[in-house]
Amino acid sequence: MKTELENTIEIDGSQGEGGGQILRTALALSLITGQAFSLINIRAKRPKPGLMRQHLACVQAAVAVGGGPAHCNAVDAEGVAVQIGAGQLTFRPGPVRCGDYEFAIGSAGSCMLVLQTVLWPLALAAQPSNLTLRGGTHNPMAPSATFLSRMAPYFSGAGQAVYALEVQRHGFYPAGGGEVQVRIAPPPDGLAAIHLMERGARLEAWVECLHTGIPKGVAGRELEVLGRALGWTEDQLRDRALRSNEGPGNALQVILQFEHITEVLTAFGEKSVSAEEVARKVLREVQAYLAHSAPVGEHLADQLMIPMALAALQGKAGQYWATSLSEHTRTNASVIEQFLPLRFVMEPLNGGWLVRVET
Ligand code: ATP
Repeated sequence: MKTELENTIEIDGSQGEGGGQILRTALALSLITGQAFSLINIRAKRPKPGLMRQHLACVQAAVAVGGGPAHCNAVDAEGVAVQIGAGQLTFRPGPVRCGDYEFAIGSAGSCMLVLQTVLWPLALAAQPSNLTLRGGTHNPMAPSATFLSRMAPYFSGAGQAVYALEVQRHGFYPAGGGEVQVRIAPPPDGLAAIHLMERGARLEAWVECLHTGIPKGVAGRELEVLGRALGWTEDQLRDRALRSNEGPGNALQVILQFEHITEVLTAFGEKSVSAEEVARKVLREVQAYLAHSAPVGEHLADQLMIPMALAALQGKAGQYWATSLSEHTRTNASVIEQFLPLRFVMEPLNGGWLVRVET
């Protein structure tokens, strides 16, 4: 899939949603295509623009996967390796090197966003890779380890999943300290076409309350709100007390399993927000999802874009029907279009959106 274009792709980080995803998508596709890019106005629409620690960790992970500083680099306007706070960078990729890697965020930032950066380059490599990721595993504003784990089967057709995640230790904001092992096994026949147009029969639904180091009774109260509102039985309300050294933290995650799709919806406990409020937050998302018929939820719609584009370029065009498309997803689509010779087509369909790729 290498396209040796001569020019560096110029990307404006203030476009659309203007957050960290523009950087991560650009890093991933730069490694995959061998195409250098310059990114200006990094995270311009965030209250604290520029690279933060977790974004720098993504850049460093991309440099490592691109063969290390001798082959791959990310520099600022002065040509110096980028640092926290940088508002622009130029990334020159090297050939993707599969193998064993350890990446630590060094804060409670989400290590799942580091995975998002290197997953697809490594999934297209010649051999498997093993990653040890340290940082937050269940963070607000990021896909959780549970979410990414449930997403793994969509890319391999009937074959073995392209990647598998094992949470060794949970990590929450603000303490961090989680650890996840990831095995990435590039599928021999390339990525499968994504066809997610219907949910199929509902198989199972449950809520897991992950918690440690929070006041007694909170988990029970959160589960009770959901149980009562959804009419769920005891066995669907799962209290998962974690080890005391994994916290403090509280993630309330609802898993809705259908024949063709598994949706993971999460709310996080916060100081000064009542248990009932946390439960009602995820409840509203569950009710909205159940009131719709489209299989792909807002966040999954976002995560599917890169692998769907890559599969399409391997001759396996797919499509999905999403409940909604966020500005985040649309921005992601336009960054992908800057790197790959294709176009996303997004059309309204029965109160949701049909997304497909034209090559
Ligand atoms: P910033 O925007 O401050 O730079 P960031 O680097 O975390 O922060 P965003 O651009 O907001 O970047 O991207 C967050 C990522 O997390 C996106 O891929 C988004 O789809 C995903 N995400 C956010 N919330 C959820 C959720 N509840 N479930 C699954 N994925 C989520």
